[in-house]
Amino acid sequence: MTLEMHEQDLLHKVQAGIGIGGTWGPSSSGATFTVEDPATGDVIKSVADATVEDAVRALDSAVAAQQEWAETPSRLRSDILRRAFDLLIERKEEFALLIAVEMGKPISEARGEVVYGGEFLRWFSEEAVRVQGDYRRNPEGTGSITVSHLPVGPCYFITPWNFPLAMATRKIAPALAAGCTAVIKPAELTPLTTIYLVQLLEEAGLPPGVVNVVPTSNPGAQSSVLLADPRLRKLSFTGSTAVGVKLLEAAAPNVLRTSMELGGNAPFLVFDDADLDRAVEGVLLAKFRNIGQACTAANRILVHDSIADEFVGRVSEQVAAMKIGRGADEGNDIGALVDRRAVAKTVALVADAVETGAEIVTGGDTVAGPGNFFQPTVIDKVGPDARLVNEEIFGPVLAIIRFASEDEAVQIANDTEYGLVSYVYTENLGRSQRMIEKLQTGMMGLNTGLVSNAAAPFGGIKHSGIGREGGFEGIREFLSTKYTLTPR
Ligand code: NAD
Repeated sequence: MTLEMHEQDLLHKVQAGIGIGGTWGPSSSGATFTVEDPATGDVIKSVADATVEDAVRALDSAVAAQQEWAETPSRLRSDILRRAFDLLIERKEEFALLIAVEMGKPISEARGEVVYGGEFLRWFSEEAVRVQGDYRRNPEGTGSITVSHLPVGPCYFITPWNFPLAMATRKIAPALAAGCTAVIKPAELTPLTTIYLVQLLEEAGLPPGVVNVVPTSNPGAQSSVLLADPRLRKLSFTGSTAVGVKLLEAAAPNVLRTSMELGGNAPFLVFDDADLDRAVEGVLLAKFRNIGQACTAANRILVHDSIADEFVGRVSEQVAAMKIGRGADEGNDIGALVDRRAVAKTVALVADAVETGAEIVTGGDTVAGPGNFFQPTVIDKVGPDARLVNEEIFGPVLAIIRFASEDEAVQIANDTEYGLVSYVYTENLGRSQRMIEKLQTGMMGLNTGLVSNAAAPFGGIKHSGIGREGGFEGIREFLSTKYTLTPR
């Protein structure tokens, strides 16, 4: 299948190079790697494959730009972010199409990602001018304590493929607002959206060198050299816990500030007093958004025995009616998974669940090619040993576990090393309060299946991460606190 004309025109506008110091160019080795449309397997573009030397050049550029950017009046930094927001919203359709073509999500959801990703630019344009310090007298009365917050310095960002725009703006916007410069390494499966975003930032007036982009097919080599460089002061990573742990180890000798947005294994609890209409709507959103490929995806659906049959019946009816097809084409609910490995993993997880006693209610199989499609699936009566329960599914498979009591639900929900988000459906106020206290996650959706919001502190506990992105908290990750004593 060939790309539509308007898709080809858009891809021509995206730089195929490495962006350093405001200049786009090839890799120093001349190497490239290819980006595919996951719905067809077709190569859509070749991109420069940055070498370690290119990455060091990008850091040179971020270091050179750091002081001037930190000294740029916050109002000007704010104005650039705001212009970037306005431009992004003007080009919403272009960005949505690019995301859908390289990543595979349905175009309607890609539009949602543009709005969500854009909100970080707008929110942090507003925060840029509100970095505050404070002044105190010391208790002895002999001096004054002044507390100020200064940019941490050059940052290195590593982002995943599942939200190629929003995961980039969630890091870039607070860094720029705080006065930090950056090198960004997008996921090798989806570099185009990030490259196009950096082009947009330049158009919005961002000075050369403030944000540099170095796509590579060898992230391990690049990260080990940059993390060891004493000029780098901060790492912000979004991706799997396994890679996050390796990066924390690599960042330790350089005592880097780190922000880690890692994996999840979200429990979704439906109690017997839940509003079932809302719970059905919520679970479909929390599970099938992004074809199940979200860190916040509901991974384990815990349903009270007394309502489980009705809940499973209503959910399955809607899942069976979902339309499968290429994300970039209008009207599809379930796009292609990002690559063949993702399909193979989903197949293995479903087979393991069935072997351990679960029942497939709808779906359960791959879809004949081309493309990496898997049917939206509901599996009921999943047992505690199934891999589905213990691993991030990252596919369109809704796994139901039945429970008998509130205590049992809480025990199952917390029985994981992850702690990103939980979802709870109940109409009982006391139970809501108990769940806020008892569920071990950094975020919670109470009678909602979607928590992401630029104004809120996004992040996890346990193996789901360190630090928060968005909200008032987001900018603090890019500021270091300085205390000055002045004797009277
Ligand atoms: P991944 O860890 O494989 O890759 C993430 C990024 O790390 C990519 O850019 C990749 O190139 C890079 N990377 C891989 N190996 C590396 C290495 N050795 N050194 C440096 N960089 C390396 O994860 P993924 O498959 O792209 O994304 C899915 C994961 O991301 C899931 O676990 C998901 O839960 C998580 N995620 C978390 C959040 C959050 O906010 N908590 C958001 C989105 C995704």
